[in-house]
Amino acid sequence: MAVQIQPIKGMNDVLPAEIGAWQYFEACTRELLAGYGYEEIRVPLLEHTELFKRAIGEHTDVVGKEMYTFVDRGGDSLTLRPEATAGIVRALISNGLLRGQRHKLWCLGPMFRHEAPQAGRYRQFWQVDVEAVGCPGPDVDGELIALGTRLWQRLGITGLKLEINSLGTAESRREYRARLVEYFTAHESQLDADSRRRLGGNPLRILDSKNPQLQELIRGAPLLTEHLDSDSRAHFEALCASLRAVGIPYEINPRLVRGLDYYNRTVFEWITASTGAQNAVCSGGRYDGLIAQLGGDATPAVGFAMGVERLVALLVAAGRTPAAAHPDVYVVVSGTQAAAQALALVERLRNERPQLRFELNAGGGNFKAQFRRADKSGAPVALILGDDELARGVVAMKPLRASTGQTECPIAQLAAGVDAALAAAGQAGRS
Ligand code: ATP
Ligand code: MG
Repeated sequence: MAVQIQPIKGMNDVLPAEIGAWQYFEACTRELLAGYGYEEIRVPLLEHTELFKRAIGEHTDVVGKEMYTFVDRGGDSLTLRPEATAGIVRALISNGLLRGQRHKLWCLGPMFRHEAPQAGRYRQFWQVDVEAVGCPGPDVDGELIALGTRLWQRLGITGLKLEINSLGTAESRREYRARLVEYFTAHESQLDADSRRRLGGNPLRILDSKNPQLQELIRGAPLLTEHLDSDSRAHFEALCASLRAVGIPYEINPRLVRGLDYYNRTVFEWITASTGAQNAVCSGGRYDGLIAQLGGDATPAVGFAMGVERLVALLVAAGRTPAAAHPDVYVVVSGTQAAAQALALVERLRNERPQLRFELNAGGGNFKAQFRRADKSGAPVALILGDDELARGVVAMKPLRASTGQTECPIAQLAAGVDAALAAAGQAGRS
């Protein structure tokens, strides 16, 4: 036997048994985003490596050690997108869509990061990305957070905590950065290798460390909030006031920095207590400088990304996944004449009743085997196409979930007969 090809570590198949939860999540999300006036955008999975280096920052973990980068046959360095914002901004610039226009956009798709795979952390994972481009004020930040909050409510996901913070401006961060370097340098012996590396490049990232041994040191570090410029402070206070006005509970976490370098002012994250270390389900913030940094007209923007696997896991844990769909009618076939006519007959029924689901028995089998499959399918009604019945111009029907007996229906009135059988079986079908 040939050797099996192994799947790539950290890249998952979403199997039919799991897809219901994904589709439910996606349908709720699409509907809600449309309700807030967001439009879908689809951008390529591959971009020039330079885009992510410039957008996300050379000193971030994502660019430093997590990107899937390769040289293509034309000699270009390309990278599988580790996040969606950079590609969306690139698309707005490439298509000339900035020039003072506003855009409310969302994007769903897989992202790629070479991380250590574990529950809730994968190398290919899906995000729903939501971006509001062209709006400088805290009102949009507040509306985005309201959108997220409403989504969790609609999905029936509870127990999420919203943390918010302000990173101020690049200038106010510079002053803070100096204080932070001072503090961590004084405690350098306690730092791990990762943090020591960050100390030179991007000391704010040390605050984002997931190493439990560093948490106490991080708790003692100076706070960014003490170094905010007055405009950023006013922006943040207005956001907090609007969240209180809507009744959205939040916690200010002065140590919340984000994994990507492009954020300024508002940053936020929803975290759950239930998925262990992988506790962030949705994270985002404002990135007023990014568009200009990527060569577009300076345009303020704010957005967030949800981790679909983590949210779907919460949906499943909450028992909020819809019941699996089953066929309305299972078609059992017996005899050579019947087998020859079955497809045409069922296709005619599909024309006449496009809203119903018909499952035509596949792969033959005797009567008993076919009825076993019919039962397992969950269909309330079986149609029996047999040579004898067809010779008499009829089809037999049998309710599968009731004790009432088998009936017959003339082929010419089959669609109406199916309606009646389904109604009698207590299910009028989907409309
Ligand atoms: P984390 O702190 O968990 O590494 P992050 O700060 O790197 O997350 P973002 O880059 O902001 O996350 O991505 C937004 C969301 O995408 C996260 O809140 C999380 O739910 C999800 N996410 C990020 N990385 C992964 C991954 N490797 N596997 C699954 N989901 C992920
Ligand atoms: Mg990360």
